[in-house]
Amino acid sequence: MKNVLVIGSGISGMSCAVRCAELGLNVTLVSPFPSERSQSVMAAGGINAVLEDNGEGDSVLCHVEDTLRGGAYLASEEEVKGLCERSGEILRFLERIGTVFSVDEYGKAAKRIFGGQSHKRTYYCGASTGKQIVSSLIMEVRHFEATGKITRRLWSCFHSGLILDGVCYGALVYDEATRGFETIYADAVVMATGGQNTLFGKTTGSTQCDGYAQGQLFLQGAELKNLEFIQYHPTTLQTGQKHMLISEAARGEGGRLFYLENGKRVYFMEDKYGEKGNLMTRDVVSREMFLVKRDIWLDVSFLGEELIRRRIPEVMELCMKYRGIDISKEPIPVTPSVHFFMGGFAVGLDHETNIRNLFAVGECASKYHGANRLGGNSLLAAIYGGMTAAEEIAGRKGEDRHPDFSEYAGKQALVLEEKGKTESRFPVAYIRDLLAETMHKDLGIVRNEESLDNGITDVDYYLENAERIQYDNSVMPYFNYSLTGILTLGRAVLTCARNRRESRGAHYRGDYPEMKEEYAFSTIISYDDGAYNIRPEGSVGR
Ligand SMILES: Cc1cc2nc3c(=O)[nH]c(=O)nc-3n(C[C@H](O)[C@H](O)[C@H](O)COP(=O)(O)OP(=O)(O)OC[C@H]3O[C@@H](n4cnc5c(N)ncnc54)[C@H](O)[C@@H]3O)c2cc1C
Repeated sequence: MKNVLVIGSGISGMSCAVRCAELGLNVTLVSPFPSERSQSVMAAGGINAVLEDNGEGDSVLCHVEDTLRGGAYLASEEEVKGLCERSGEILRFLERIGTVFSVDEYGKAAKRIFGGQSHKRTYYCGASTGKQIVSSLIMEVRHFEATGKITRRLWSCFHSGLILDGVCYGALVYDEATRGFETIYADAVVMATGGQNTLFGKTTGSTQCDGYAQGQLFLQGAELKNLEFIQYHPTTLQTGQKHMLISEAARGEGGRLFYLENGKRVYFMEDKYGEKGNLMTRDVVSREMFLVKRDIWLDVSFLGEELIRRRIPEVMELCMKYRGIDISKEPIPVTPSVHFFMGGFAVGLDHETNIRNLFAVGECASKYHGANRLGGNSLLAAIYGGMTAAEEIAGRKGEDRHPDFSEYAGKQALVLEEKGKTESRFPVAYIRDLLAETMHKDLGIVRNEESLDNGITDVDYYLENAERIQYDNSVMPYFNYSLTGILTLGRAVLTCARNRRESRGAHYRGDYPEMKEEYAFSTIISYDDGAYNIRPEGSVGR
């Protein structure tokens, strides 16, 4: 293969592009905004790795076991092993390209512990791990831009795949600068478009991650996986715009969760789970917080100002800036919020989807995290997935020729033009808000059959209307045409959650609170002419 189209320029997209370029491939890297503004820059806590000289009894095997257990054993051992085995190499790669990791008082790489880990294995760069990794990758991308191996296309949004008979030949992209569509042909297309935040409105993440690409490609035949597993992060600070993440590092450094009863503190996680209670996995902590039905606080004040400033300065700054709280003196009011999506494109070990030459990496793919992701594993998976896809693509022979999609592109341009002709201001944004409300209400930390049925009925109604409405000319065309894809994804997520009549990892059913052996499989969902079809992974297909 020669030409690769990578859609999305966060950590996974750039890792893929850089590895492709190293292997001699030509890459077009498409995104609506610069990498500096991707969600990846928000990652603060760190990245997991097991180095040979970790000196504390940690091993790749322990990392594999923690990841599988944390994900309620839905991910396969083979895939998780591949991820963990390469973690040391990935950390060294990041150092080589200029990522500066924090060091401890002995000058050794500093690491911390996150929920569900048996050993300290999360390496970090002060309070800005994501930002540091993004900066180093940008320098690598620029280097390959200078050599002509990578071409960056900013202000461009994915519209749809150029797919015929189960093979992908490129993508149709809307260019905000020229205000028109462009067909970009490629030997392989790699989706790296991140999570699905827009489905839920306010989350800890970026609204750039709207899930549209997943919804659109699902309509075009791509299979999705494990959509019902949505991670609620237990500790976020509510603000008007967003749920600000209070990094798990705060609990890793000893932070304690409590509520008040008759004026006395009840450390409910420690009472129920013992000494390590505050560091249980995110699904468990969020659920316990939900079930106690009280206002919850996180206390780190006993660490003292000096240690707080050294270890979790971003938490200190954030609480002061947004709520005027001095965390060295007062506890932090926290609530769980949607944070990460374990579900996404179903991909094989090589990161290819069920559509030939269409790959997916990073948070938009579902692979390593099973029913619940461990903190620090996402950055690792984003880089590993990007590299793995690149290496697979480099080893393949491309298609000799591609079909002509110009008629298809012309048709899509016409739809956009026709739908935008009137002065109709039917609020596309209003339907998005309704969707977010529905998802929050019917697909919360605890779900049940009735709420999921209601959610499906509501989203079907929004979908019907979305198909009929004229576009809103006051917003970007992408905001208009992405609506149906986003709603379709929402419908698929609800359908998966309804189908899993058990509780496992981040999916908790109030009406089926037990984990059941008969559901010990990953969910695959596909779309066929209006029907949302579900099957267990491995039963048919790849
Ligand atoms: C607040 C916060 C803190 C976190 N902290 C950690 C941490 O400490 N450790 C850890 O391991 N994980 C952490 N995570 C998770 C982790 O940051 C993400 O899972 C990871 O960065 C995702 O990388 P990505 O490349 O897949 O996607 P992103 O970085 O989200 O990039 C997606 C890219 O796709 C582009 N895109 C989206 N839609 C389209 C479209 N239609 N057309 C074209 N381009 C499109 C976007 O513009 C962007 O360039 C955190 C997440 C959040 C929200």
